[in-house]
Amino acid sequence: MLHLEPARHRSLATKFFLFTAALLIWVVLVMVAYDVAYGNVSIGKSLLLCAVVLLIAGVLAWVTMRLLVRPLRTLQAALQAVREGRLERIRYRATGDEIEFIARSFNLMVESLEAKSKEIRENQELLEERIRVRTAELEQAMGKALEANKAKTEFLANMSHELRTPMNGFLGMIELVLDSPLQPDQREQLITAQRSAHALLAILNDILDLSKIESGRMQLESVPFAIRTHLRECIRPHQVRAQQNTVGLRLRIDDGVPEMIDGDPLRLRQILNNLLSNAVKFTSAGHIEVQAGCSPQPDTGEMRLDIAVRDTGAGIPADKLPQIFEKFTQADGSISRRFGGSGLGLAITKQLVDLFGGTLEVSSQVGRGSEFVIRLPFTISAGTPAAASTETPAPAATPADALILIVEDNIVNQKVIKGLLRRRGYRMETAADGSQALAMLEHYRFDAILMDVQMPVMDGLEATRRIRAIEKWHEIPIIAMTAHAMSGDQERCLAAGMDAYLSKPVNSSELFRLLESYLNEERAVRPAVAKAAGAEPIDPRLHDDVREGDPGLVVDVISLFLQLAPERMDKLQLALTAGQCATVAAEAAVIRQSAQRIAANPVADRAKKVGEAAARGDHAGMRHSLLLLRSEVDRLKRHAREMKTAALS
Ligand code: ADP
Repeated sequence: MLHLEPARHRSLATKFFLFTAALLIWVVLVMVAYDVAYGNVSIGKSLLLCAVVLLIAGVLAWVTMRLLVRPLRTLQAALQAVREGRLERIRYRATGDEIEFIARSFNLMVESLEAKSKEIRENQELLEERIRVRTAELEQAMGKALEANKAKTEFLANMSHELRTPMNGFLGMIELVLDSPLQPDQREQLITAQRSAHALLAILNDILDLSKIESGRMQLESVPFAIRTHLRECIRPHQVRAQQNTVGLRLRIDDGVPEMIDGDPLRLRQILNNLLSNAVKFTSAGHIEVQAGCSPQPDTGEMRLDIAVRDTGAGIPADKLPQIFEKFTQADGSISRRFGGSGLGLAITKQLVDLFGGTLEVSSQVGRGSEFVIRLPFTISAGTPAAASTETPAPAATPADALILIVEDNIVNQKVIKGLLRRRGYRMETAADGSQALAMLEHYRFDAILMDVQMPVMDGLEATRRIRAIEKWHEIPIIAMTAHAMSGDQERCLAAGMDAYLSKPVNSSELFRLLESYLNEERAVRPAVAKAAGAEPIDPRLHDDVREGDPGLVVDVISLFLQLAPERMDKLQLALTAGQCATVAAEAAVIRQSAQRIAANPVADRAKKVGEAAARGDHAGMRHSLLLLRSEVDRLKRHAREMKTAALS
């Protein structure tokens, strides 16, 4: 603590007082002396005297003021310096008066301030050092976590491949044996084995789906589909199971629900399947109801589809409700042990709903039942349905006339596919890798190719690129048949020039549906993946305007756009992940403008929606719109490939 001594000497005021008093006494004495000595009073002299007295008093006052004002100015400047952050001391003379006292006090204050700010600076440096160390530690931990996450994703991709390949053989062989004459008990045992294998596959698929979503690589499609029919088809298999428990399952679709909407029917089905299989599993009496309604969203101009799944089943205790959306979590282990389940269904459902940009709510009462409500944004479709659904019977085909090339390195899988195709009446040849396939194409005229992706010598992607590079093979449908079930594989296959994609284990009815849709005349019926039609990807007027001058030009400008698109989409994704709405809006505007320039109106519209969501700061909306934008760009890609083929033929 700093101590300040009081001034020891006479003050300035005293000095000034003594001066003035002495002066007045002197004036009075002089005037009295004059009057006494001469006996007359002279006014002129008196005035002169007064003037002299005033002059001297004035000079004295001026000197005194100077004595006071100069140190005060110095003090004022020093205070100003302190206010501006400069701690400067005052220089003063040891006059022993208040000025010296103030100057000393001021300098002591500056010293104390210096000590304090030094202390603060040191603390700040210490704190900064700690933050630096902590940040470095966090960065290191984050790096490790990212590495671990990458390793996990790679592990899952590999595991999926490793497991799906034998599963393909396993399920395919069971299917083939089931097709042959068997004893009733043998058939029953085999059906049990098939059921177990399907259950294993379902868990495997769940794990893969979750890892796909978590690594941000799950992409939603946006294709037109008949929502009312789709809902009916989705609940039908569950109706059968519910009836077995004598539980009724009812579907109510409100009048406002349109016929056709744009969206991802497969993922919507997956959401409904998860909710419905839980409802059926946990309801032993009463009924289950699915209600679908539709309402406009005032802020975005889009529509919202609300689907509620209600049951009168076991219900979920309130304290367990927040956990049921977590991975591998079950509210009641005993029921799940009885009926099976991995605890992944709702985690996947929740994440899928998030991807759609929607919401999922649950309310439940133990012993009374549960209600799950999903609300998903969507647009009313301008297009026609993309494809016959998996529920519809396979179109009539002419297998006997068709020659199929199976490109597959795994002997068991070769046998399975051959068995399935032979049973359907196809003729076929097999190649063990891409280069063998190219050699066989020189000798036979194949109607379709079923192409594995991962193979020794030459993989399926490379083989496809080489096939597509040769004009006479442009038209041959190539269907990828791969255990690579991770997201992005489909895109890679399509980008290499394949027409469609089947993941292993191959489902025989899906295989025939796909194959036969290609084999039917002029590729009239195409699967959703190959022709997801909304509005025309490119405004036909552009074709007409440009084609006159140069027929290849339309394809060229679209190709240029598509070459630049991945980089732009990556930038958009990065900005979205970093939560930088302004950058998202700017990138979306760039994509919109370049899409408009090539008359790719649906892409431009989707990019506009991304920009609008960014402007609202609506993160879920941005994610949803970006997915739709991606699928629209993919559709444009397919369209460009078809145009190229058409231009060459
Ligand atoms: P699981 O594969 O075990 O069904 P889910 O993630 O689908 O996993 O569900 C998690 C848990 O939530 C279930 O194990 C069950 O305890 C509870 N649950 C989900 N839906 C219902 C329902 N309709 N009625 C009662 N409990 C339910």
